[in-house]
Amino acid sequence: MDATLQVQTVFHLTGRKPAPPLEPIDALGLRPALLARYRDLTRLRYDFPLVLLEPAPGGSFARSLQDLVSELARHAAPAGPAGEAMRKQLLHLERDIRRAAAAGTTGLLSELWEAAVERLAATDDPTLREVLLHAGVAMGVDGEVVDCDEMMPERLLAHGWRVVQREKLGRVRTDIDTLVTRLSNILRADFVHSDAGRRPESLKAAVGTRQQALFDFDRMSRLLALGSPARRLSDTRRRRIEWALSVLRTQRFFPAPGIEAYEFRLDTCRAVMQAFRERLPRMVELVKAMSMAELEADGRYDPAHHDEFFDSFDEHSLAAADMAIFPDYFVCLRGRPAVSADTNLLELLSSGIPVKVLVETHDILEETSIGRGQFAFGVRSVQLASLAIGLGDTFVLQSTSSNLLQLQERLRRGLAAQAPALLSVYTATAAHSGDIPCYLVSAAAMQSRAFPAFSYDPTAGDDLAARFSLEDNPQPERDWPVARFDYADGSLQRISEELPFTLADFVAADPRYAGHFARLPHAAWNGHMVPVAGWLHGRQGGDDARVPYLVSVDREGVLQRLVVDDRLVQAARRCLDNWHRLQELGGVHSSHAERLLARERALWEAQGQPAVATLASAPVTAGTAPESEGEPGPEAEHSPDEAWIETVRCSSCNECTQINDRMFAYNENKQAYIKDVTAGSYRQLVEAAESCQIGIIHPGKPANPQEPGLAELVERAQSFL
Ligand code: SF4
Repeated sequence: MDATLQVQTVFHLTGRKPAPPLEPIDALGLRPALLARYRDLTRLRYDFPLVLLEPAPGGSFARSLQDLVSELARHAAPAGPAGEAMRKQLLHLERDIRRAAAAGTTGLLSELWEAAVERLAATDDPTLREVLLHAGVAMGVDGEVVDCDEMMPERLLAHGWRVVQREKLGRVRTDIDTLVTRLSNILRADFVHSDAGRRPESLKAAVGTRQQALFDFDRMSRLLALGSPARRLSDTRRRRIEWALSVLRTQRFFPAPGIEAYEFRLDTCRAVMQAFRERLPRMVELVKAMSMAELEADGRYDPAHHDEFFDSFDEHSLAAADMAIFPDYFVCLRGRPAVSADTNLLELLSSGIPVKVLVETHDILEETSIGRGQFAFGVRSVQLASLAIGLGDTFVLQSTSSNLLQLQERLRRGLAAQAPALLSVYTATAAHSGDIPCYLVSAAAMQSRAFPAFSYDPTAGDDLAARFSLEDNPQPERDWPVARFDYADGSLQRISEELPFTLADFVAADPRYAGHFARLPHAAWNGHMVPVAGWLHGRQGGDDARVPYLVSVDREGVLQRLVVDDRLVQAARRCLDNWHRLQELGGVHSSHAERLLARERALWEAQGQPAVATLASAPVTAGTAPESEGEPGPEAEHSPDEAWIETVRCSSCNECTQINDRMFAYNENKQAYIKDVTAGSYRQLVEAAESCQIGIIHPGKPANPQEPGLAELVERAQSFL
């Protein structure tokens, strides 16, 4: 083995400090090749910054600045060349606001617009200044401008929650106001028929001041007293109506002006549960008052029927529809410490309390300190969302912050759902992003499958196909999304190739994990290197001496190859496993369907075999052809000592190839066979047999009698001989 190969193999296997010619990458300012062209995001037109809007019911609560400016340009600038100058000015304004937002400036769009006009419009051109200011007003919308920073998900979702709640509360507030008016009218009519109501001063108070001079209230009072006796409310009915009115007027869920509202945005799950418990008696009281008020207002209250029902009305009487009218709680748990500290999250989601929980994750990469250390990623966040799906009736949405605008409709459904909702969002922070913008790092988390987007809506249908969606993940049918990458080689020839974007690419963007990579100078590049995606797919062949590498670009724009250590490669495998599970949930590459297909194929072949055998043994006569030499015959006999796979039954689930892709490989039909039994241990053979769901791997007997733990392994292998 030559010296370079030895050094790169040692680094790959151990991850220890790289020896020459390998170099550490800390000081190189590297970024993944596919992100190389995005050095200055403010020069691009893309989804950010957003403007938070106060929409009409059902409308968008956020739009991108780019979208608003494009719409303005369509309406405000004349078509064709005449409007070109105006369109350019508007685009300059948009870029200026984008730069200001990226630099941390916050405020209303109208304020940022005005400031940008003052910066851009030359002082000697007052007309242009006026035109641009007027264009800003003509946009017809205003709201907070937010960039894709670590505060954005909370600001966007809290705003969306407020908008949705306002629509919901407005409807209930109108119902309550109507009931108050109708009950008040009943009491007023009763008062008018009372002695007190017929007094001259009462009659006068009931007439507007302008008309008071037109009437003789003393005479009117005497005339009314001579009329037929009034039908008055019974005392119990009046008391009932007065009680309902008092509850409706003083309740704090949908408060009338002057009444202090309850706070529904709280800091912890514990606080939500406590507030809910404390307010439950008031909720019962309000539902009871509204129900009684409706019956009274319609004249349908029947004491014989309803008294007993309302006397025993308590929290158990509240139906789901009753609960659904109340405002939803909103909690934002930021970062893992907040989630870990608030152990009540799953309890809250399963409690039936109407709550929307935003869990913000700022760091999905971690290195555990147990033993040698597993390089983990996003485990807790992904587990959290998966656990919440397991609750069955919780709305779950997972996404990175870069994708939230695209998911606005889905977010609105979650915020408006009667079910509890978990919104799990990853957003990068400047502390972990090096010189790459947070937006790009967040987008890279989704691209690399480290934090895929998905949603589960329990109200969307009866089955998983209707409820679960893989949302906007790029190229969901692939393991890793692929994009074209153009560069110039050493002789300045343009090269164009397709590059997959893997977990390793995402990790390479985080300076904390530079130690998992080592740069191999161009002069030392060799044929013993295989791209990390190919390595993960087991396409590196049986050459033990190869190591996986990643393509990266340094701050001078020069292409670099980085050897990747084994811990990161293993993490990428686990990332892929998680992604495969999500694909299955989303109906992509269903192992059940593939297994069924394999079974049917095996059955078909088994049924066809006797006919072929019969034909083969029959005498050849005119019109029949002898069996061709290349055609497969009956499956060969296998000794119990031999390791083998019933290849025709393989469902291509990847389990065995993931354990050792040099020992197990796929044939041209993507069905597994044992390629090289000496390429791994007997332990791997047995573990593969145990993990093969259809039990078609037969480990045979161990080839190496010196392998440790053989007695136990042989015993485990008995079930597969
Ligand atoms: S584990 Fe079994 S079914 Fe899956 S690929 Fe290997 S042999 Fe085929």
